[in-house]
Amino acid sequence: MTLDDILVEIKQAETIVVMAHESPDGDAIGSVLAMNLALKKMGKKVDVIVKEFPRTFDFLPGAKDVKTTSDVETYDLAISLDCADLKRLVGREYFEKAKKTIVIDHHSTNMMYGDLNFVNPVSPACCEILAGMFEYFDIDIDAEIGSCIVTGIITDTGGFKYASVTAETFEFTAELLRKGVNISDIYQRVLETRRKSNFELLRRAMNRLELLENDKIAFTYINKQDEEDVQAEPGDHEGIVENGRSIEGVKVSVFIREKEENLYKVSMRTGNGSNINVSDICYIFGGGGHPRAAGATVAGTVEQVKEKLIKEIKKVI
Ligand code: 5GP
Ligand code: MN
Repeated sequence: MTLDDILVEIKQAETIVVMAHESPDGDAIGSVLAMNLALKKMGKKVDVIVKEFPRTFDFLPGAKDVKTTSDVETYDLAISLDCADLKRLVGREYFEKAKKTIVIDHHSTNMMYGDLNFVNPVSPACCEILAGMFEYFDIDIDAEIGSCIVTGIITDTGGFKYASVTAETFEFTAELLRKGVNISDIYQRVLETRRKSNFELLRRAMNRLELLENDKIAFTYINKQDEEDVQAEPGDHEGIVENGRSIEGVKVSVFIREKEENLYKVSMRTGNGSNINVSDICYIFGGGGHPRAAGATVAGTVEQVKEKLIKEIKKVI
């Protein structure tokens, strides 16, 4: 399967639906919005399905056109972006009914659930894959598409700091800067600005943070009550897990968030200076992700989930 096969499917389709993973982050949002603009340039009728759109990304072009549902039942083509697993795909009902499906992603744990699957696990962001793809398709990456792309690159590389960053990442970004994309403005909006409710959640999570197993594991959590108390919005839990990983000596940082009663969404990060593969650990629980940033959903109370996770982490630290 090549990029040409993808181009053929796009050219043949009239109606296209674009979607990404649940709890969308900057790469998921940047990817769907960049794809939306690119397909519109190709003259396609496009719907973007996102539920729980974080307000942080309202400034991006096309953010206002995003839908939570659609009247169209059967699209000619469905494109899934930045989502390794059909289970986590929001808008799955449209994906499953579409005549053709394409998956574009950068997770090595991708389940290859599309008719065509384009997965590049060494790409630091799904948005970076799209940048290369649009170039190949001869679509002009203007400042609008560029703003969406750089949003995904900035958020998925922690502001160009992860080891996943390549020379191409900087080259693409330099090119976008030349085209008029305001990198500094986007950086400040997506990484340096907190809503008050996000700050209040962080404060609670930090107060509860425990250092376990000789300070090698950082563990913290938030529950539904916390989110209600601070009037949390979509995306407010983003970034909390990052705080644990920066503590000296921590090999794995764990943050869990109550999804529903006795069900927790797990976020895991490899500590700085450690090379533990957290994706392998999350895989044991039916999840996945990247070697240094991964997740899963685990049943139980906080204490039970914590115990299950620590048991597996202990085996590798
Ligand atoms: P986060 O902790 O920010 O939710 O996710 C970290 C990384 O792991 C992201 O790339 C995300 O897409 C992936 N991820 C999170 N949860 C899951 C999951 O349950 N299954 C899979 N396959 N990937 C996940
Ligand atoms: Mn991503």
